[in-house]
Amino acid sequence: MKDIFDECQFGDLKLNSRIVRTGLWESQNRQHGYLKPEVFLRYERLAKNNVGLIITELISLYPHDKFSDYSHSINYPLFMKDFKMLTEITHESDVPIFAQIAFANCNVNGKQMIGVNDLTMEDIRQIQSDYLIAARKISFAGFDGIQLNIGNNYFLSKVIDPRENKRSDNYGGSVFNRLRMVIELIQAIKKTTTLHINCRFNINPQDEDETLEIAALLEKYGADSLQVTKPSSPQFFKKESPDKNILFDLTDKISKHVDIPVILGGGLSNMSDINDLINKTDIDYVSMQRPFVYNPTFLSDWKKNGEGESGCTTCNNCYWKKTSTCHMIAEE
Ligand code: SF4
Repeated sequence: MKDIFDECQFGDLKLNSRIVRTGLWESQNRQHGYLKPEVFLRYERLAKNNVGLIITELISLYPHDKFSDYSHSINYPLFMKDFKMLTEITHESDVPIFAQIAFANCNVNGKQMIGVNDLTMEDIRQIQSDYLIAARKISFAGFDGIQLNIGNNYFLSKVIDPRENKRSDNYGGSVFNRLRMVIELIQAIKKTTTLHINCRFNINPQDEDETLEIAALLEKYGADSLQVTKPSSPQFFKKESPDKNILFDLTDKISKHVDIPVILGGGLSNMSDINDLINKTDIDYVSMQRPFVYNPTFLSDWKKNGEGESGCTTCNNCYWKKTSTCHMIAEE
C-alpha cells in the first residue's frame, strides 16, 4: 500500500514524500537587485513541511523573454549568490531542489522571434550552448537537478510538436529527429555536470504511441526522470473528473513504459484522491502548484490529520495575474 508520505528513492535522490512542488510565476523576484526575503521564507516553509521535491518557478533562459517580468532569470547578476542561499535552505531540511528552465520566444544571434522552421544550425547550437552555460550555473548554485521544461507552450515543446515542426532536415520529421535538439542537450549537460535531469513534456492525447515513444527516447538518451503535462496550462486540469482524466491515464501508461521516475503534472488537491490514484495505478509521484501558492505548509496538516484538501479554490487569479502569492489570501 502506497502513501503520499512514503520515503522514496527518486533516481539517485531520496525524497521524504511523493509530493513534488512545482513552481510557475515568481512575482517576488527583486528588491535592490536581490531576491526578496519573502522568497527565501516561502522556500523555507516549503522545505520544512513534508514536500518531497521542490521544482523552482520558471527560470527564463533569456532576459527579455515574454515571461521574464514574472520569472527568475538565469542572467541576473546575483543569480549565484541568491540561489546558493535558496538551495542551502532546502538542503537544511533534506529536500532536494531542481531548477526549472525554459524560454518562450526565440531571440538569438541578433534575430527576433525565430520560428521553429527558421532555426539555422547556428541558432540551434547557440540555444544548446546557452542551456549548457545555464546548467553549469545551476550546478554551481547547488541545485540537485535541472528541469528542462520542454512542455506546456515553451519553445522546445514546439520543436517536438509535429503540428509546428515542418523541418525537412535532421531536426524534423520522425519523433527522434524532432527530439534531437533536446537529446543533444541532455547528453551535453550529462557530460559537463552531475545534475539530475528531469524533462517536463506534453502528452499528445491524439497519439498515445508517440507520447510513449518520446518518454522512452528521453529515458534512453539520459533523462533521469520525467514530469508529464499538457500543452494547455494546469488551470484546465480541474475540469476533468479524477475517474476520467487523460493526463492520469497517460501518466500511468508512461510509468509502466519506462524505468525512471515519472511525476504526474497536477490535477489533484485532496489527500485521499491522491492516495487512491497512486494505489490504483503505477503513478508514484504527484506534483502540485497552486495548493502551495495558497498555503506552503498544508502538507504538514495533511500528515498530522491523515486527511485534507487544499483550500485553493482554483480561481486561477494567481495564474492569470502571474503572481507567486494567493489573491484570495491577500484579499481577505
Ligand atoms: S489565487 Fe486562486 S488559484 Fe491561486 S492559489 Fe489562490 S485560490 Fe488558488
